[in-house]
Amino acid sequence: MVDLENQAEGCRLGTEEWKQGTVVSIHGQFVRVDDGDMTRICVMRRILKSLLLEQRNAVAIGDMVEFTPIEPGEGVIERIGKRHGMLFRKYRNREHLIVTNVDQVLIVSAVAQPEMRIHMIDRYIVSAIAGGLNPAIAFNKTDLRHNQPIEEYKKIYSNLGYPVVCTSTTRRTGIDELREILKDKKTVLTGVSGVGKSSIINCLQPGLKLSTKPVNQASARGVHTTSASQLLKLNFGGYVVDTPGIRQLTLSKIKQNELCEYFEEFVPLMQDCQFQNCSHIKESDCGIKRALKEGKIAPWRYESYVKMYNEEFAKSWEN
Ligand code: GDP
Ligand code: ZN
Repeated sequence: MVDLENQAEGCRLGTEEWKQGTVVSIHGQFVRVDDGDMTRICVMRRILKSLLLEQRNAVAIGDMVEFTPIEPGEGVIERIGKRHGMLFRKYRNREHLIVTNVDQVLIVSAVAQPEMRIHMIDRYIVSAIAGGLNPAIAFNKTDLRHNQPIEEYKKIYSNLGYPVVCTSTTRRTGIDELREILKDKKTVLTGVSGVGKSSIINCLQPGLKLSTKPVNQASARGVHTTSASQLLKLNFGGYVVDTPGIRQLTLSKIKQNELCEYFEEFVPLMQDCQFQNCSHIKESDCGIKRALKEGKIAPWRYESYVKMYNEEFAKSWEN
């Protein structure tokens, strides 16, 4: 096996020789980088590694990096680009950065089996916005018999600017529309187990999950042993984040009295509230409650708000 780092010290190239790429997966000290044409197995330059030593994640999946290419199919990471849209997972009471530079969250919900809960979608929307990501919604299993007012949901969410698509992976409907939503973006799929996330990924691009091939047998040693998070490259442009076990995005940065700001249609109505710190629940002179009575906001959106306000903050959101 080639000692990439030592080899790179000897033949360090000028910055004009550096190439750009996206980190698609990390396996120990080996970082798989997609430069648009191919994926390479890279290691971090030692200086960079020690500079970033205190940070938990020296390099993260989704990072934009600059690297010195080394043939064949290898490289040394020289620089890490600025991050946005970070996704954390809580593990043993610590937040771990799992993916960065994510653009949007595709919230997948089945219209039936498992039973649809609209407040779950609203909860995911709040999480997405709080994390700096745009929400998009897929109502899946539309081939099944159900009594959900999907058209109503679709109208409200679309008006808020969130892309909505109705899909059925068994009938293969809505898939092209979904491709348009995902194209050229980094998207994380979220939703409870059984709603059809894997089926959707498979429908978008059959074999996608299996297509992450080892690059070079020598340097790829151990690369396919762990199946942690990874970016799956879509052949029509963009990536989906495949993170086993992601059920809920953390909401730790939201304060209870700021929750209403994440229900975007509430915001302009809040100026009619008598009190500035109105909870929009107990107060009688409240712009939101008035709008609700007048049918200007959807009752189910208000219910989601109240449910989150009361239940979620009683648990662990703020600590
Ligand atoms: P995940 O847990 O969200 O990844 O869900 P899966 O993709 O594993 O799907 C769970 C189950 O729902 C599987 O038995 C799928 O065959 C089924 N399923 C997925 N999409 C659809 C759909 O559009 N219609 C119907 N009827 N079943 C679906
Ligand atoms: Zn109010």
